Amino acid sequence: MVVDNQLVDAVGRGRLEVVDPATAEVVTTVPAAADVDVDRAVAAAKRAFGGWARTPASVRAALLNEVADAIEEHGEELARIDSIDNGTPISMLRNDVRLAVTQLRYFAGLALELRGQSIPPPAGGLNYTVHEPFGVVGRIVPFNHPLMFAATKIAAPLIAGNTVVLKPSEHTSLSALRIGELCAGILPPGVLNVVTGLGVTAGARLTAHPDVSRIAFTGSVATGLAIQRQAAADRVKTVTLELGGKNPLLVFPDADLEAAVAGAVNGMNFTWQGQSCGSTSRAYVHRTLWAEFLGRLQEAVGRLQVGDPQNDDTDVGAIVCRSQFERIARFVEAGLADPRARLIAGGEVKDPGAGFFVPPTVFAFDGGECDSPLLAEEIFGPVLSVVPFDEYGEAIARANRLPLGLTASVWTTDLGTAMRAVQDLEAGYVWVNASSIHIAGAPFGGFKNSGVGREEGIEELYSYAQQKNVYIKFDREGDCHQR
Ligand code: NAD
Repeated sequence: MVVDNQLVDAVGRGRLEVVDPATAEVVTTVPAAADVDVDRAVAAAKRAFGGWARTPASVRAALLNEVADAIEEHGEELARIDSIDNGTPISMLRNDVRLAVTQLRYFAGLALELRGQSIPPPAGGLNYTVHEPFGVVGRIVPFNHPLMFAATKIAAPLIAGNTVVLKPSEHTSLSALRIGELCAGILPPGVLNVVTGLGVTAGARLTAHPDVSRIAFTGSVATGLAIQRQAAADRVKTVTLELGGKNPLLVFPDADLEAAVAGAVNGMNFTWQGQSCGSTSRAYVHRTLWAEFLGRLQEAVGRLQVGDPQNDDTDVGAIVCRSQFERIARFVEAGLADPRARLIAGGEVKDPGAGFFVPPTVFAFDGGECDSPLLAEEIFGPVLSVVPFDEYGEAIARANRLPLGLTASVWTTDLGTAMRAVQDLEAGYVWVNASSIHIAGAPFGGFKNSGVGREEGIEELYSYAQQKNVYIKFDREGDCHQR
């Protein structure tokens, strides 16, 4: 692990196995942090805080730009590490390196934009606000974009002057450790610390730690709820949550069908094995387009090549670990056993002994919406469910029926339908005639159980600072009672 810019083992020497999901073989091990290890990392971050907070923002930005340069320079290595650890095709991970570098430079560029306001006070006074960092930030990230999250999710807290303890997923710790090692050559000791370990031990300790003032979490709804409870154990903490989704894609009768089919394939993120929070995993298609949409979708999904994540031509790699594989397999089996679900593509789940592969799978619910778990639960696998609809209101009601609201995608050539749907959809990020794309600087985050807070834009930077209001009365005659 990386604590105080030193590479350290867990005090108790506990280790976790690292499994290559494409072969199901153990390739190495990483430290399993216990409470004492987390405490050590938090103490290092706490010691570093004062100096880092006082470092001029322009200097912090210059250092973050150096981190971006180092990640760019080691991009191929980091992408390779993630493809072994996470199972996603190398071509996708190279793109994650580019996104990570862009996002780091974006936040470095915002360093001088974190500024307060002056607010008109009574005569004879001055009122202004400043933004101050929280202190030690605990940053917990999931397995689906390991290097990208390890790099981008530390940017805003560090630029705002906080120090960070980063905990990657126990399934994908390697690239975060490598990024921590690269940062140790750039940032002052203790500014960024990386601890690896299980969520229920290391993650829980980090969230409940009394010296951690601010927690930011990206992961599942269930863990997000646990984190809110843990963080409130014995003090008040600011918590932001980027959680899961079961995101709808709506295809209206006037949609460009070819584009909508491509958008559904892209939106499902099959090239991430469906392991993306923003995946549009429920497609609602107007009945006039139903048969043709399914035919074209079947063809498009059939062209995706499942295979070795290390291979440049692979479209779909391996599922991150055995437990996720088994969970996805259970959903696929439920679909195969359900007479309401018609298999359109995929459906065969390979023997996990040969690696955790699930082919892109599509189920059509010809009879319309029903209570199948495939239409209600985030599978976080390459499984797309498609449902016909007849009326605009029906489509919107279906889309909004779940207690989740991360993303939504709308396909129509009618501006009125598009704008109405944008207004009516309960989601934090809505695409029209597009899917999956994240616009640099645009706020990403969820409605309802999909989260609290927004990331990827300037709001994220402000979320890592607390406002202080200052009123100075410099004229003895001034009114000191105005409200
Ligand atoms: P997860 O919730 O199982 O784990 C995420 C992280 O939390 C891991 O580092 C894990 O070790 C840690 N953790 C687990 N239990 C903990 C606890 N009790 N206390 C503290 N930390 C704990 O999620 P996952 O399976 O790694 O990732 C998939 C989920 O992440 C999906 O639901 C997906 O939608 C969501 N996700 C959301 C976004 C977003 O921006 N909204 C982005 C990516 C992934």
